Amino acid sequence: MKKKLVVLGGGYGGLAIIHELLHKGLPHHIEITLVDRQPFQGLKTEYYALAAGTSADTELRVAFPQAAEVTLALGEITALDRTKKLVHVSGHDPIQYDYLVIGLGCTDHYHGVEGASQYSYGIQTFQAARKAYTALNNISPYGKVAIVGGGLSGVEMASELRESRPDLNISLINRGPKLLGGFPEGIQTYVAEWLEEHDVNLLLNTQLQRMEQNILYVEGSNAILETDITLWTAGIQPVELVQQLHAEKDKSGRLKLNKHYQLLDDPSIFVVGDCAALPFAPSAQVAGIQGEQIAHILLAIWKDKTIPIEPIKLRGTLGALGKHNGFGVMGSRSIKGRVPRLIKSGILWRSKHF
Ligand SMILES: Cc1cc2nc3c(=O)[nH]c(=O)nc-3n(C[C@H](O)[C@H](O)[C@H](O)COP(=O)(O)OP(=O)(O)OC[C@H]3O[C@@H](n4cnc5c(N)ncnc54)[C@H](O)[C@@H]3O)c2cc1C
Repeated sequence: MKKKLVVLGGGYGGLAIIHELLHKGLPHHIEITLVDRQPFQGLKTEYYALAAGTSADTELRVAFPQAAEVTLALGEITALDRTKKLVHVSGHDPIQYDYLVIGLGCTDHYHGVEGASQYSYGIQTFQAARKAYTALNNISPYGKVAIVGGGLSGVEMASELRESRPDLNISLINRGPKLLGGFPEGIQTYVAEWLEEHDVNLLLNTQLQRMEQNILYVEGSNAILETDITLWTAGIQPVELVQQLHAEKDKSGRLKLNKHYQLLDDPSIFVVGDCAALPFAPSAQVAGIQGEQIAHILLAIWKDKTIPIEPIKLRGTLGALGKHNGFGVMGSRSIKGRVPRLIKSGILWRSKHF
């Protein structure tokens, strides 16, 4: 009787596991089921471009692996029954697992800002980015867009939208005094200057209190901001299914794991990517590296070998300022301008073709 590995989520983490298992050779007694609500992988790192209208929907799709060892179960995962080891997926009989991977990514976190979930658009899922695209591109000429959150996604969103719609009045709202918290000061300044030169209004030290349709209220002042569309890029948390799961979590709601990326109370469940409590900020890069490592761990378990422990070594972080400019950190080096943008495009090309 074959054992079943069920992978929840065909994103950067889940697919890295499957590709590595297929590459290294899946033992004959194992079969894989991949479950996702989409019939392809969505290249999430580019969702800002889909929302802005500078990349087409079809450019951001990557086919799921076609292999005899992999069965696809496409549908919405509605529940996880850890006692019976079953996954409930709309349109399918319950799927039984021997080993499970949770790689479902993240959703917006509104940090208690009243009205934010009703009155803002997000870019955390393909579906959300499509809605944002329609709303943004239907705004009348000279309309107002507020982007809340000056981290990597907010900066990329603002610059891409500027290229897509030179007529719009774009404001980027950030709670702290600097954009891109965690990046070196030289990069923060370079990006802030680029945005100002491209007519993006930076509202720093600005904490939102609540939102209504087309109105943003700022904490500690009587100021209000009028907007046609508000985009939310100010925080993430694991998806609702993980929020509801009874298991130990860190303060960001990510699932706590042992050194082999298994749940503390259940070694049959592995967690990858944005749902995993790792000593790194969530990223596609971390999800990919961790995914490969989980594949090596699974192979060792299945072949009764010593389980490897590999460190996660990050290569760096890159960001886009439209299609021709960018910024990033590689090792201890800051890079700005055309080169980081070209490297980022190269990484995107690779993720589509390998
Ligand atoms: C605009 C933007 C820019 C970014 N830029 C970068 C970058 O430059 N570099 C970088 O490293 N990271 C970047 N990131 C972060 C990166 O995209 C995520 O960290 C990464 O996608 C996490 O991978 P994952 O495998 O955990 O989840 P995901 O890649 O999000 O995959 C999760 C999968 O689960 C599926 N799923 C979720 N819930 C359900 C359900 N209930 N039923 C069925 N299927 C479900 C989804 O359809 C999806 O396919 C960016 C993110 C955004 C939003």
